[in-house]
Amino acid sequence: MMRGKKEYRCSFCGRDKSESLVLIAGLDAHICEVCVEQAQEIVVEEIYGGAPPPSEDAPPHELPRKSQPFKLPKGLTPRKIKAHLDEYVIGQDEAKRIISVAVYNHYKRLREAGKNADRSDVEVMIEKSNILLVGRTGTGKTLLAKTIAKLLQVPFAIVDATVFTQAGYVGEDVESILSRLLQVCNFDVEAAERGIVYIDEIDKVARKNDNPSITRDVSGEGVQQAMLKMLEGTDVNVPPQGGRKHPEQKLVKVNTENILFICGGAFEGIERIIARRRNTQVIGFSGTKDDKQADDTRLLPYVNHTDLRRFGLIPELIGRMPVLTYLNPLTKEAMRDILTEPRNSILKQFGYLFELEGIKLEFSDEAIDYVAGKAIEYELGARGLRSIVEAIMTDAMFNLPGQQGIDTYTVDLSYAKAKVEGSKLAALREAA
Ligand code: ADP
Repeated sequence: MMRGKKEYRCSFCGRDKSESLVLIAGLDAHICEVCVEQAQEIVVEEIYGGAPPPSEDAPPHELPRKSQPFKLPKGLTPRKIKAHLDEYVIGQDEAKRIISVAVYNHYKRLREAGKNADRSDVEVMIEKSNILLVGRTGTGKTLLAKTIAKLLQVPFAIVDATVFTQAGYVGEDVESILSRLLQVCNFDVEAAERGIVYIDEIDKVARKNDNPSITRDVSGEGVQQAMLKMLEGTDVNVPPQGGRKHPEQKLVKVNTENILFICGGAFEGIERIIARRRNTQVIGFSGTKDDKQADDTRLLPYVNHTDLRRFGLIPELIGRMPVLTYLNPLTKEAMRDILTEPRNSILKQFGYLFELEGIKLEFSDEAIDYVAGKAIEYELGARGLRSIVEAIMTDAMFNLPGQQGIDTYTVDLSYAKAKVEGSKLAALREAA
């Protein structure tokens, strides 16, 4: 007797094998390709709140998971935070001390909040202390924030305030600040909620003049207003991929109460404001003295919240960044140290590149001095150092690999000078 041919069907939608392209067999059931796709959508919806999975290539262990409760690295104190910063950031002692304390307190607060979550008898609530860094470009503001985040092993994102506009105008919504944070931690919302965000160029959203009656200031006051709640701590609906929100988009809710915001800006011209304030207060206003001191960067240590207000930040925003500190312009000595001292200093990096070729790289003292001097001249802060060293090293890096019999390569003053003067950098300088 012939047995009837066994029928295979999708156990989810009932589709017959002949109707489906693929029918995958499980222990006691089958699933067709259409249901696999739908199941995938449900998984994405559940885990990522509707956003596509962060990275197609992410190895499985990097996929979102429930975060472990936050622990401050054992034995960490403000002193130890500062010592760690010292390994990577040259100078800027005052900023390092202030940031170490603020960050330590922030995470202590986070730890206590976790412990006391179920208690109603705890009266003292520590408020969070966002930080504002004032200092010229390339003086280490971003580096400080980055180094701290690495030490604490929390998600860290850098965003630029200049791309944001008030809702309704062209540009990115302020909420997309948090999209970057979500992206760096693979959409693990819990991890993002205790991360650090560095908002660069915060000075660029200052009101253009000190007139509060200005009615339409797309790039300035509107953006500041939009940032207020986020900095203070609230639930924010974040577009997972950043950019502008649109009606059909699924949004991810992120609470910013425990996110530490570090804002930085050059605040060009703020010395003039400080000088004016100090002169009127101390010795009366004097035009010539004011002008003379205007460029005096030694005034920066005196920066206070009133100066920021005069500069064009709204008082409410200033109030949400209670920790204010400054970074000194880099001196030639500091530039020299940046080249050689930090754990992954530029010269150590190049030294390593050469070592991989079996060549020892040496920079003479005069050459280092020359590079430091050029960086000051180019006014790009320490950011200029890498471009200058690149300009010096490119030819050698092109020619040396594969050559036999070279075990040491020395860069002296005349070689460094010749390479910089013949480079695009010099041309740029002349054009400026
Ligand atoms: P900004 O103040 O504009 O945020 P960054 O922190 O991005 O400047 O600095 C640019 C680069 O210059 C950094 O990657 C770092 O290598 C170097 N740098 C700047 N300041 C310092 C410093 N104080 N110590 C060590 N490196 C520094």
